[in-house]
Amino acid sequence: MNDIAYKILLAALVIAMNLIRMYYQKRYKQTHATTESEIAPKREKLLTQMMALALAVPGMIWLFTGWLSFGQYALPDSVRIAGFAVGVYGIWWFYRIHKTLGDNWSPVLEIRRKHTLITAGPYKRVRHPMYSNMMLWLVSFALITANWFYALTISTGLVILLSVRIPDEEKLMIERFGEQYREYMKRTKRLIPFIF
Ligand code: SAH
Repeated sequence: MNDIAYKILLAALVIAMNLIRMYYQKRYKQTHATTESEIAPKREKLLTQMMALALAVPGMIWLFTGWLSFGQYALPDSVRIAGFAVGVYGIWWFYRIHKTLGDNWSPVLEIRRKHTLITAGPYKRVRHPMYSNMMLWLVSFALITANWFYALTISTGLVILLSVRIPDEEKLMIERFGEQYREYMKRTKRLIPFIF
């Protein structure tokens, strides 16, 4: 397959992801007044914006220019297409996770009024399925683009985001849900079922 085909596959995934996100973002904005408490709102905003940039800018450059051609590595078509399949699976999960979290979801760390603790469905074995899902996209995008520079930039963004956010998010959940969250922590992993 030629490069244009892979660009179309990547763009299709990114568009699907953004459509799901936009829908929930709109719902979030409509219910934002029901925020009960926030944690480090300025830092959180900065983090999410940085992450969005780290994801979007190198992706756009790869899609629309040849500047990242130095980073291309040889991958068989079958592997790159498997990367697309991983991405489609990721989108399906992305949708399910959003649906399960419902109005508890927020782009930044906060407790909503009437916040409920979700521990079933995608939340049964891992506490941060949405972040695990982002790791899955990363694998998908790295395979589709077959570009190490692109893979490196988005993984760096994700590692920074998760290592700052997960500890704070768990602290916030413990403050709000106490023993119930501690118990939930005992029977789950952070990101990868049974492993981590
Ligand atoms: N870390 C989760 C959720 C990301 S959205 C994941 O990766 O799937 C971030 C918001 O979700 C936070 O503001 C937090 O209040 C909320 N949240 C995190 N875990 C939750 C849970 N188990 N139940 C309900 N809300 C949760």
